[in-house]
Amino acid sequence: MATERTLSILKPDATRRNLTGKINAVFEEAGLRIIAQRRLHLSQAQAEAFYAAHRERGFFKDLVGFMVSGPVVVQVLEGEDAIALNRKLMGATNPANADPGTIRKLFAESIEANSVHGSDSAEAAAQEIGFFFAGTDIVG
Ligand code: GDP
Repeated sequence: MATERTLSILKPDATRRNLTGKINAVFEEAGLRIIAQRRLHLSQAQAEAFYAAHRERGFFKDLVGFMVSGPVVVQVLEGEDAIALNRKLMGATNPANADPGTIRKLFAESIEANSVHGSDSAEAAAQEIGFFFAGTDIVG
């Protein structure tokens, strides 16, 4: 295993319910370190660009609308095997299918308002981290 970095987003349903600390406690207790973090309100253009890979999917418009419905927290997590570990801690996309103890099982409201985003590959992590952060923003 290698030390990796991955992009995490705490989605609008999480900020609305004041859950950022509770969710980040799950990451930190599992050994992931938050080495960059910013709270922002995504613009329509930013949300569309971030989810460009999903443009053809039926839920794209709804997803973008949800992601601009309130503030998000974007952050870089670092740790051993961070990309897969983050995905494991998040749980399945649909909270109904998520394992007990995962963030989505504990906190998600629906398949759309599912509290967290996490990069799903090394390539996605590098691209998504670069989408939000300059190298100088990241302090490991
Ligand atoms: P993830 O990698 O687990 O986040 O899942 P995907 O990459 O497949 O989807 C991206 C995001 O789109 C999910 O986290 C959800 O917020 C949303 N999403 C996925 N599937 C659906 C769906 O069937 N309906 C709606 N409304 N949103 C969805």
